[in-house]
Amino acid sequence: TGKFFVGGNWKCNGTKDSITKLVSDLNSSKLEPDVDVVVAPPFVYLDLVKNSLTDRIELSSQNSWVGKGGAFTGEISVEQLKDIGAKWVILGHSERRHIIGEENEFIGKKAAYALSEGLGVIACIGELLEEREAGKTFDPLSFADAVPSWDNIVIAYEPVWAIGTGKVATPQQAQEVHVAVRDWLKNNVSAEVASKTRIIYGGSVNGGNSTELAKQEDIDGFLVGGASLKGPEFATIVNSVT
Ligand code: 13P
Repeated sequence: TGKFFVGGNWKCNGTKDSITKLVSDLNSSKLEPDVDVVVAPPFVYLDLVKNSLTDRIELSSQNSWVGKGGAFTGEISVEQLKDIGAKWVILGHSERRHIIGEENEFIGKKAAYALSEGLGVIACIGELLEEREAGKTFDPLSFADAVPSWDNIVIAYEPVWAIGTGKVATPQQAQEVHVAVRDWLKNNVSAEVASKTRIIYGGSVNGGNSTELAKQEDIDGFLVGGASLKGPEFATIVNSVT
């Protein structure tokens, strides 16, 4: 698989002051060269971060509109994201699925549009606790049919029960699902895509548990929430790949 990939999803957090401080901490931290590092600030701060953050770290948005911009109040288009210098978009995050109500079909269309316009997609999947207990560990990647090319897509496995709960999946639990996702890609897309697509883990990753997780063969990086709001800890997570 490709380079280790670590994303910081800042979610709906921060102020001009706290984000300026976070950017300055990131700018002064030492990051392993062989890791792709991406942060996803709230939309309103994307430009501030773009203009102050080192180019070493790429920029992602946390969502994008499903097609070309226009009369869609409250939405942000892929074209606008590219215009301010974003390279990635997080799509299908569980908070958007379960709190805001986005569904697979809509997420698939967003992914297809963003990819066709050249934005990288961090596509999130992950089961609820009751789904896990019923033996259903990940949503089939139903957006797969809509994907024009897999070159620019990273899959984030984020079990909903592990997000923001402090209950991180064990390295074995995560590894098991990552293997299942890779097998799914092999059987439904191609062996080549299965072997080169990065599958990253998210859910209560922190500076204390990232090294053990990173040792798992099929964990190709992380999507970090809470701990990405602390510059030094985020740097520790980036550098946990051995
Ligand atoms: P936490 O790291 O806060 O559990 O959040 C994970 C997440 O949802 C990243 O997208």
